[in-house]
Amino acid sequence: MLILMSPVARPEEVSEVLALLEGAGIRLQVQGSEGTLSILAPHASKAFKADRLETMAGVRKVVPITSPFKLASAEGSLSRTVVNVRGVRFGGGDLALVAGPCGVESREQLFATARYVAEAGLKLLRAGAFKPRTSPYSFQGLGLEGLRLLEEARQEFDLGIVTEATEVEAFESVAHTADLIQIGARNMQNFALLKKAGRCDKPILLKRGPGATLEEWMYAAEYVLAEGNRNVILCERGIRTWSDHARNTLDISVVPAAKAINHLPVVVDPSHATGRRDLVIPCARAGVAAGADGLLVETHCHPEKALSDGPQALLPSDFFQMVHQCRDIHRVLQGSTSGVGLAF
Ligand code: PEP
Ligand code: MN
Repeated sequence: MLILMSPVARPEEVSEVLALLEGAGIRLQVQGSEGTLSILAPHASKAFKADRLETMAGVRKVVPITSPFKLASAEGSLSRTVVNVRGVRFGGGDLALVAGPCGVESREQLFATARYVAEAGLKLLRAGAFKPRTSPYSFQGLGLEGLRLLEEARQEFDLGIVTEATEVEAFESVAHTADLIQIGARNMQNFALLKKAGRCDKPILLKRGPGATLEEWMYAAEYVLAEGNRNVILCERGIRTWSDHARNTLDISVVPAAKAINHLPVVVDPSHATGRRDLVIPCARAGVAAGADGLLVETHCHPEKALSDGPQALLPSDFFQMVHQCRDIHRVLQGSTSGVGLAF
């Protein structure tokens, strides 16, 4: 349940509610600040009836959370979550753009790409130092050396770093370097990794598994949230269907569907969703039009030489075009929320 405290609740009244819940062994999280305080206690209904808490001094209202994803559910929060990554806001109406090559391959490659990503006005660079690859013989990433190069790139271009943690063993090293840690599609149900992510103090970008339902994706987010990390961003990156024209199928309707049931920001990755450079820009535009809070896009200074995901990497010129078009679409949508009805 979500316990809404009165705007004039006294500190000792808040403490009394907390003591009652904690005394019964209920895990809880205090949200908001003075005047808008609420206590999220997902499993409190097992120990207390709502009216027991509602009659306590300082309690304004008790709202039951019927959703099985107690923490991710929109019912469990009074406002939508805004995740701030080095000044870039995911959620809250902004369009957060993240881009970079699939993997860190060399200083030259990383820096050449980071340079034009920064020139396009982006503040976050994404590249994998640890790559989860389908074949054990494919490029696996530079590992710790890749993390070191990412730190250099942050310094050189003043870009925040988004990079993937593929295993529990290397998690701390990745967390040390990253401003935003990606959990990849293949690891969406790696529960040990999710718990580890939930115990760290960096925001998490949780990709949807290629075969995962919305419900399974929400439960994966719940694993992270339940360990105390409230900064989770969801990323739709395409799912496996019968369609054979692209690497995956971008499930565009999951963007509004996910946002309808949870309070977390949702971004779209049109690169892995399509696997084809010519489809990336149209799908990026569709993601923004569907209400995504941001995009995660692969671009490479020389895609023909890329060690992974070259066919889907945007060329620098395409990349600039995508950024402009997506910002324009976002701006139109922002304007339309002020009441000027639009037909899409
Ligand atoms: C990636 O981001 O480069 C990647 C491998 O993505 P996904 O986990 O979505 O396949
Ligand atoms: Mn990739």
